[in-house]
Amino acid sequence: MATITTDDDDLWFRRALDVFEGARYPLHPVGSKLLHFMLDGPEGCDATISASRFEIRYGRNASRHRYLLHPAPAVVSELFRLADAPPAASVRARIGPGMVPWPFDARWLWMDATSTTVSIRIRDATGRTGHPAVDEPLPEAITPPAPRFVDLTSPLRCPHCTRPARRYRQLQDGWLVCPACHRSFAQALE
Ligand SMILES: [Zn+2]
Repeated sequence: MATITTDDDDLWFRRALDVFEGARYPLHPVGSKLLHFMLDGPEGCDATISASRFEIRYGRNASRHRYLLHPAPAVVSELFRLADAPPAASVRARIGPGMVPWPFDARWLWMDATSTTVSIRIRDATGRTGHPAVDEPLPEAITPPAPRFVDLTSPLRCPHCTRPARRYRQLQDGWLVCPACHRSFAQALE
């Protein structure tokens, strides 16, 4: 298997930029999986692509997710295709409902490319008409939800590391995060 180097990352980033000038790259399984994550939830996402990172913040999640850069050209190509947008450094469009090949609902898409960064923002468009105006700036970045903690009346043992704790951070989906080992688990709370 080839070693992934920063030179490769620079290449993938330059290819992603080429897409804004009309180049197209076919969607492969890794790219379509990533697009599925980006288009799936109504909470939307903010993605940043540069020569050093491909980072996505999903609306439902406080953490930033980092991905390898090699799917970036295919992901941007497919977004251009879904938007039916001509080559341009800036894209504003309503996309979907569609398939990538997973189904996704109507989304608003903003993409801006500069020589150093590609910014992508996706927001829910179900029940909304029209689309973002051509000259509209990127929407506000997604603000991660404030961490939420639960205080238990008696200590609870983490099922992973078995350390007991009374105070746990609780994720959006209700899972608890162990303060000792940082792993999460489902727990019914009375
Ligand atoms: Zn633990």
